[in-house]
Amino acid sequence: MEKILYRSTNKKSPIVDFKQAVLKGQAPDYGLYMPLEIPSFKKDEILLLKNKEYYQIAFAVLSKFIGTEIPSKKLLEIVRNAYNFEIPLKKIDENLYILYLDKGPTYSFKDFAARFMAEIMEYYAKKENINLTILVATSGDTGGAIANAFYEKENIKVAILFPKDEITEIQRKQMTTLGKNIIPIGLKGKFDSCQNLVKIAFNDGDLKNLNLTSANSINISRLLPQSVYYFYAYVQLNYEKINFSVPSGNFGNLMGGVIAKKMGLPIKKFIVAVNENDEFPNFLKTGEYKPIIPSKKCSSNAMNVGHPSNLARLIDLYGGWIFDERDSLGKVKKYGILKVKPDMEKLRNDFVSFSITDEEVEETIKKYYEKYRIILDPHGAVGVSAYEKSNIKEPVISLETAHPGKFPEVIKKILGFEPEIPEKLKNLILKDEKYIVLENDYKEFKNFLMELK
Ligand SMILES: *Cc1c(COP(=O)(O)O)cnc(C)c1O
Repeated sequence: MEKILYRSTNKKSPIVDFKQAVLKGQAPDYGLYMPLEIPSFKKDEILLLKNKEYYQIAFAVLSKFIGTEIPSKKLLEIVRNAYNFEIPLKKIDENLYILYLDKGPTYSFKDFAARFMAEIMEYYAKKENINLTILVATSGDTGGAIANAFYEKENIKVAILFPKDEITEIQRKQMTTLGKNIIPIGLKGKFDSCQNLVKIAFNDGDLKNLNLTSANSINISRLLPQSVYYFYAYVQLNYEKINFSVPSGNFGNLMGGVIAKKMGLPIKKFIVAVNENDEFPNFLKTGEYKPIIPSKKCSSNAMNVGHPSNLARLIDLYGGWIFDERDSLGKVKKYGILKVKPDMEKLRNDFVSFSITDEEVEETIKKYYEKYRIILDPHGAVGVSAYEKSNIKEPVISLETAHPGKFPEVIKKILGFEPEIPEKLKNLILKDEKYIVLENDYKEFKNFLMELK
């Protein structure tokens, strides 16, 4: 098998191998790594995945991106450790299916990526005998998933930045009750500010000896495992082609699907379901890209993103080029400059996109409870509501990205009762938490990082 190589979407960084792409996280030119060539699956190869366990499908898909860089036996062990929970696919009505990605240890789909990434990072940290500092910005669920996945991993420290006032108590406590190698930081700012500080830190030479690595969805090792469940879902059913509705914020989940489609999985359309941060549906409509800064605050809080990072990858795959203009220190001067327009016709052929208001989320949660006795979480409800708006009369798999038990206040307000809260989450509420609070200021953040032991 030949070596798989990765390039930056900003075109100004050297080509790297998988290990370098993973350990760097972001390319030095602030671009995002993409495989130089997307590997492919033939039709009969896909059919061979039928009746396979999830981890076996993960192995088949991911080994195409890793090549010989990690021994097969080790990779198989990694995916086996990472994917030890159930992934139900339920038929809701004639055309609608829901894929439940909310059964991992922190009850959001972020577990799929975080658990794989943690295994990979520990593998490299030990193999190279280095200490890594993982830096991550979270809009809600990433932080918990990363904290849980990396807890007590050897040779690794994890600093997590979250917008102090925009996440729920449960989301916060998933990060702040662990201690040891997990360091949570509440920022007086929004998710986009957290993300910005993290991005600057990566390119700050003074922080070199911390071996900073990103655990955000910009890291390729977080992105690739999100292609796997699209394959898994497809082979559970017997349709020639399938559509997916994807509740989207930073577009990592969506990009996983887009890569699966590029690999040859017969996906007809993606329904890109966003909350009131509607920059993408507007872009599809007008061809003009206008990021929403600051992002709007909605009940699907993990999707409050006004300028999705992974849009750079999406636009890149469709022949365009988008980046943020920066000053010499790496600070963003202007977000989302569309230097080369992607093939809009092709984009409009492969994607439809809808913005769902919080009110529509409430109506959808109510309706699906009354009609089918299922409780959607606010993010999954954005997906289902967008499916309804799309009017697609063909099989659609909508992704349920979080457990409703993570949002008891929201659900109680809508349905009048609290959803069942998983035992592990209930115990969390009782635990003591510890985190520091920082201003939205790079200097302060940098000083804090430099003092980390
Ligand atoms: C992160 C998250 C999303 C959005 O996923 P992206 O990959 O950022 O588009 C949706 N739902 C939940 C519950 C999440 O945690």
